[in-house]
Amino acid sequence: MEVIFLGTGTSTGVPYINCPCDVCQSTDSKDKRLRSSVLVSVDTKEILIDCGPDFRQQAIVNDISTISAVLLTHEHFDHVTGIDDLRAYGEVEIYAEERVCQSLKRTIPYCFGEIKYPGVPLISLHEIDEMPFDLHNTEIVPIRIWHHKLPILGFRIGAFAYLTDISGIDDKEYEKLQNLDVLVVDALRLKPHFSHFTLEQAISFAEKTNAKEVYFTHISHQLGKHDEIQSLLPHNMMLAYDGLKITI
Ligand SMILES: [Zn+2]
Ligand SMILES: [Zn+2]
Ligand SMILES: [Zn+2]
Repeated sequence: MEVIFLGTGTSTGVPYINCPCDVCQSTDSKDKRLRSSVLVSVDTKEILIDCGPDFRQQAIVNDISTISAVLLTHEHFDHVTGIDDLRAYGEVEIYAEERVCQSLKRTIPYCFGEIKYPGVPLISLHEIDEMPFDLHNTEIVPIRIWHHKLPILGFRIGAFAYLTDISGIDDKEYEKLQNLDVLVVDALRLKPHFSHFTLEQAISFAEKTNAKEVYFTHISHQLGKHDEIQSLLPHNMMLAYDGLKITI
């Protein structure tokens, strides 16, 4: 299995528009973060998790030639606004919870009418819930997480789990996070935030799962410069950065 981090930034991306801070002014490419998304290559499938406003740029930079399916964590715009650009990939299957499917039907109704407007993306929506499901012979295990008071999903595929936009998780879900080779988890910044883990919360959550390797994502400019924060982390924990590829 291979995972490419297409974007590792929070909803504003990094740099934040017009921000004079050291991180936004940094010339290190690791301090440039598009909105969060990963592409997972597994069992001859290319599975995209989330499809935000930077998807077009991410697809071009990473030369993404096929997409077998899209998994959506939740309906916030930094995770779904790129869906219109999926038209380049023919018919695309999107897997999301019922509430997220309803939200898409409201925000991009022209993709779902009986008679479709010519040229729109061809989307087939598949409603999922917390139950594991089969994606053309690959098992996907949804993980229930809390994004403030909004119940959203993370996903486990094999020994890889991706949990973005997390501020809490119920004890029962830890069972699904045993024996992970790689855990990717939201670590927004150092100061507390109502709907995201801080770096400290993300580290203690990751330690509780015993994942072998941990990558942090959905990072704000307020976290600090990539290299400075990386130097403070435990040996098996890394800040992800855009374009990073890992093999699991
Ligand atoms: Zn987000
Ligand atoms: Zn800044
Ligand atoms: Zn969100």
